Amino acid sequence: MQVEILGTAAGGGFPQWNCACRNCRSLRNGTFRGRPRTHLQVAVSSDGISWFLLNASPDLRTQIEANPFLHPCGGVRHSPISGVLLTSADLDQSLGLLLLRERQPLQVFATASIRTILREDNSMFSMLHRTLDQARWNDIIPGSAFELSSTTGEQSGIECLPVSVATRFPSYVTPKRAAELEPNEAVVGIILRSGSGKRLGYFPVVAHLDPLLLQQLDLLDVLLFDGTFWTDEELIKLQHGGQTALEMGHIPVSSPGGSLDALSGLRCPRKILVHINNTNPLLDEAGPECREVRARGWEIAEDGCRLDL
Ligand SMILES: [Zn+2]
Repeated sequence: MQVEILGTAAGGGFPQWNCACRNCRSLRNGTFRGRPRTHLQVAVSSDGISWFLLNASPDLRTQIEANPFLHPCGGVRHSPISGVLLTSADLDQSLGLLLLRERQPLQVFATASIRTILREDNSMFSMLHRTLDQARWNDIIPGSAFELSSTTGEQSGIECLPVSVATRFPSYVTPKRAAELEPNEAVVGIILRSGSGKRLGYFPVVAHLDPLLLQQLDLLDVLLFDGTFWTDEELIKLQHGGQTALEMGHIPVSSPGGSLDALSGLRCPRKILVHINNTNPLLDEAGPECREVRARGWEIAEDGCRLDL
């Protein structure tokens, strides 16, 4: 299984358009030790021909153009993108679906609650259903494994197991609507098993780590994990208000209670931070936070990273 990490940033990207935090300011004036980042986007394939996207980022058009393996290669209208697997209905994970609307056949894998929010409550997504053979939605259920397949029924050999990781729906979902939905379908992580039996964990949004999830992460060969915030109060200190990382559904990276400590006993050989917010000090390659992360055995994903499992 080929895994291409096309983008690595959390909401807003890096730099973020309306942000002049230390990182964004320093990146813009050319003094930052580190690179710009597009929104988190991952693509996987078992044959290098047919690709499946893990979520659909707001930067998807740019990310497709920057990666020739995602360019059309079979006629005037064609795409190697066979499907999209959604892990939540957050804008940063789903806006890119609207960029894939040009009457292109597409499999969409999502929980019934995520499908309901996007299809029934957001009329713009009807652009994916202008023709009968356009987007085909497949309900996925936390705890039930399924295989990624194309709209023509070709199996990829990549097995996916959705794992519920948070019960918080996006803030644009009304409390009334949220009460009608299934809380454990709000946000899922995904464990992908390749044809060779290798396991990749895709967990960019994790609100809490329970013993069962830790057991599942322990069996992975590669873990892509929530690196959104360094500390719980990161945004509050910057904006003098707002929500903590935990309130926004993200375990902070640093201790106490952070993911570096909580996942320090994992046997998984490669642990990689993704979904990194522009305010996170670990982005600064010259800083102590970046050194600490690497010293504790973690990698920090860059746009354009590739993995082979
Ligand atoms: Zn910033």
